[in-house]
Amino acid sequence: MVRVRASLSRLPSYVPGRKLPGAVVLASNESPHGLLPGVAATLVESAGGVSRYPDLHASSLIEALAAHHAVEPDRIAVGAGSSEVCGQLLHTVVGPGDEVVFGWRSFEAYPILTTVAGGTAVPVPLRDHALDLDAMAAAITARTRLVFVCNPNNPTSTAVGARALTAFADRVPRDVLIVVDEAYREYADPARVPDGLALLGDRPNVAVLRTFSKAYGLAGLRVGYCVAPPGIAAHVRRTQVPFSVSGLAQRAAVVALGERAEVARRAALTVAERDRVAGRLRELGHDVPDSEANFVWLPLGADSGDFARHCADGKVMVRPFPGEGVRVTIGLPEENDALLALAASRRG
Ligand code: PMP
Repeated sequence: MVRVRASLSRLPSYVPGRKLPGAVVLASNESPHGLLPGVAATLVESAGGVSRYPDLHASSLIEALAAHHAVEPDRIAVGAGSSEVCGQLLHTVVGPGDEVVFGWRSFEAYPILTTVAGGTAVPVPLRDHALDLDAMAAAITARTRLVFVCNPNNPTSTAVGARALTAFADRVPRDVLIVVDEAYREYADPARVPDGLALLGDRPNVAVLRTFSKAYGLAGLRVGYCVAPPGIAAHVRRTQVPFSVSGLAQRAAVVALGERAEVARRAALTVAERDRVAGRLRELGHDVPDSEANFVWLPLGADSGDFARHCADGKVMVRPFPGEGVRVTIGLPEENDALLALAASRRG
């Protein structure tokens, strides 16, 4: 009898946002704006290349990212979405028995990928829907190898500020890797939410994680990356599944990076809609925390499943976290109006 690793029986499942034909989908924090103008043409032009393997080292993409962030290319490692890079970072520093600290609730891949890497997940409860950095620092033990700081935090949308993040980083031992996951960076107000790379990027134990899946509108192509100290980035590259970032994804990401102004314009539209949706939901009596991301959090507790079902009946898909809350991704104005109408009708 083949023996399956015992730890895998404790593995939670990743729950994807539900998509129903014809429904408005506000469940997976994707961009509602579709492809960036230059990306579609690049995909068509590059399609013929898929009979060949892509560039193993993703050199053009890494150079474009290095220029974008004004860092040396040896500080960058890419993967098939930042989820894969999360896994690569874990495989780089975590082994059996090692602990990985993160706020909870947060991105659901953290406990899954920690367990897959053989580590032990140490979830630290949020406080007022936000990361409790003091409690996270206190949860670090001699066995801790990595700490995830999801900023802004998925699914609660809140963010920690520069002072708190710096004070936290000062408390984390230098042999523990701090991974600042900035998947939603483009939606955050830079006056309130620090750029992890600018703030902490010079530290020898900090890696910053970014993705093309959200503001860049490439969720289906799977490409993300980290910026880390060269010694860490080199090992993160070694842990990558060979060729996991397709040639189409590499090219599209380079083009998308060049369309920075359009990315910023689209993100600003989403932010304006987010603030409108949050304001209206508050008028309807919901206790919506301040969002720095492209989604809002409704802490509905035991009512979460019912709220999501009511929305699904009205052909709007949102993401319930049973017993905790509902995450609503910001879509186009008419999609958001459909959600708001359902929220209002449920209340009345
Ligand atoms: N980090 C966070 C906080 C996320 O919410 C997500 C996507 N839901 C990711 C990373 C991973 O995104 P991707 O793998 O598509 O880059």
